[in-house]
Amino acid sequence: MSIPMPRPARKNPILRTPQINLPPSARGRVALGLTAAAAEGRFELQACEDCGAVQYPPREACLRCVSARLRWRQQTGSGQLLAETTLDHSNDLYFRERLPWRLGMVQLDEGPSVMVHLHSAVGAAPTRVRVGARIDRAGQAVLIGFPEKASEHMEDDKMLREMTSNPRFRKVLVTDGKTPVGQAVVHALRKAGADLVWVGHAEPWKKAPGLAELTALPSISLVPLDLSDERSVMELAGQIGGKVDIVINTAELHRGFGIAARRGTDVAKAEMEINYFGLLRLAQAFGPALRGRSADGATHACAWVNVLSIYALANYPAQGTFSASKAAALSLSQCLRAEMRPAGVRVVNVFPGPVDDEWNQNMPPPKLSPAALASAIVKALQDGVEDVYPGDIAQEWLARWRDNPKVLERELAAGGS
Ligand SMILES: [Zn+2]
Repeated sequence: MSIPMPRPARKNPILRTPQINLPPSARGRVALGLTAAAAEGRFELQACEDCGAVQYPPREACLRCVSARLRWRQQTGSGQLLAETTLDHSNDLYFRERLPWRLGMVQLDEGPSVMVHLHSAVGAAPTRVRVGARIDRAGQAVLIGFPEKASEHMEDDKMLREMTSNPRFRKVLVTDGKTPVGQAVVHALRKAGADLVWVGHAEPWKKAPGLAELTALPSISLVPLDLSDERSVMELAGQIGGKVDIVINTAELHRGFGIAARRGTDVAKAEMEINYFGLLRLAQAFGPALRGRSADGATHACAWVNVLSIYALANYPAQGTFSASKAAALSLSQCLRAEMRPAGVRVVNVFPGPVDDEWNQNMPPPKLSPAALASAIVKALQDGVEDVYPGDIAQEWLARWRDNPKVLERELAAGGS
């Protein structure tokens, strides 16, 4: 069992905000395969297609038969902790600030031995463990040894909190609380133990269903925020920018048109104003403060979430301009990710399929419920995942896109979905 994390003390405003030091992050191109899988929450190792050997660390050729036919394959992670050590000293600045730090050597049932960071709930060696891959503050995959059986408060482990962006005890900004998705995210954050949730709402004179119920809850604070208005975004950043630990951008404008179905560019411009320029304004206003507080104690600033769309990967012609705005947002979020990485702040991209809301009324089921999308977002933060494709439709699109993007494009052009 793990010790639950106590509520962190309030910050002394006189103290200097510490600078972030990142763990060592140099990896070769081959080793990035481990990171790519970990970014989606999987632990994969190279397996040889000729002799079947599973190997670690990643290499260009099979260690046993020298074949180059290697394939990344998901691992169960089951293994035996053979030996462990606790670091009390380190010359590395990142680890020096986080000592003591527990490391172990695990013999995986699939064959290879791996070095892991050890969860505090793992007993003394020798013992059975389950190895998982996570992304560290530098954005690189690391392996973690977990106890074989999950127990309460495991997510409060100090080392694991470094590898994840758990909203527990953190202050979160949800950019649009008027939509069913925004409201579901606020409820999910409360359930996950967020300290405070600021809920943005544009056009405060317009009543939105569900908003009054939200504001009646403790630790929820309604704030005016209109992503299409630079002044509104800057004003809010001036008020709360220095306190936000996690930004979740749920704001979007969604209309179902292709090119021929409508004259003019007004609707497409309005979509870009929120879905693309809105993200840009938000990132310019809140990005610097988030980066500046990424080493600020146990509840440091840690994550930025963009709710994109699976249509960001391939244009869905029936919602053509919406797809294009989300593709633009995806490209921008990759820039944001590159700029946030040196500060150790994670950018999480979420790619839902059609959500069960008023803009997808004419779309046949299955559709993703706002509650399911919200819990996928919170789980991604808790697990430290970078790219999330929640629901069956998103998973299916992703598989088809990975298999052959050109084939998917033709299927969609022919009226498929
Ligand atoms: Zn081989």
